[in-house]
Amino acid sequence: MNPADTPALVSIHGGHSGQFCNHASDLLDEVIQAYIDQRYTWVGITEHIPPLSDRFLYPEEIRQGMDAGKMYRRFEQYVSACRRLQDRYRSQIQLFVGCELESYEGAIGFARQLMDTFSFDYVVGSLHHVDNIGFDYSPELYHAAVRAAGGLEELYCSYFDAQFEMITAIEPQVVGHFDLIRIFDDGYKRRLALPAVAQRIGRNLGLIRDLDLTLDCNVRALSKGAAEPYPTRAILQQAVDLGISIVPGDDSHGADTVGVNIDEAIRILVELGADTNWRKPAAVDA
Ligand SMILES: [Zn+2]
Ligand SMILES: [Zn+2]
Repeated sequence: MNPADTPALVSIHGGHSGQFCNHASDLLDEVIQAYIDQRYTWVGITEHIPPLSDRFLYPEEIRQGMDAGKMYRRFEQYVSACRRLQDRYRSQIQLFVGCELESYEGAIGFARQLMDTFSFDYVVGSLHHVDNIGFDYSPELYHAAVRAAGGLEELYCSYFDAQFEMITAIEPQVVGHFDLIRIFDDGYKRRLALPAVAQRIGRNLGLIRDLDLTLDCNVRALSKGAAEPYPTRAILQQAVDLGISIVPGDDSHGADTVGVNIDEAIRILVELGADTNWRKPAAVDA
């Protein structure tokens, strides 16, 4: 590839910071400066939304004395800080002010409310829960979710059904880590190929194409030992064949994870023949 054709460095899903997230580090300003230092063209900052209620607090949030009310107020501060930084660094980097949504009981109505209140540039639609269990938090919670669903195949099916429902209701500009449900399943390739699962994946990708949404090619898993990003290669190939826009996301959680493994996402997407003229998540000239 000649240098003129080198895809731009971007992240469609990243910029969590210790300032606004209990499992990240550094100030948002420092995270953004890391993107500028690495010569990113544009970045979507997509902090987690606050929990709908105390029931959905994560253990470290409880340990650090947070509750749903405090987290909501911190999230308000996040949006204003992010808008200020968007403006301050305008000449150096294009920033989009977004958030990462959740999917559990009541989450769709709550998401609509947040979107009305904060007028984000765009949102990332993610699922970290199935049947209200935060399955990606630990192997223990993953297994609890498997048990609650009645088996691995059932868990995958419930996940993709909930994803379909979320995408239909919210139409998020970006769908985050599409197959995160495989996070603690070593046999995921087999599972994704089961007819009932494969059918749902095809259905959800069809919806994403029809609504003209973007898929996040999320590399955070690689630094945690996974062999490939989300989604897995076979799904990425299906998405490329359908003409779905796919954009790398580093899912950074601090200045030191900015850009980590993004080259791997670019390499895979180039190899699969994806369009590397990355589509921005919002039409606004942020
Ligand atoms: Zn996070
Ligand atoms: Zn996520």
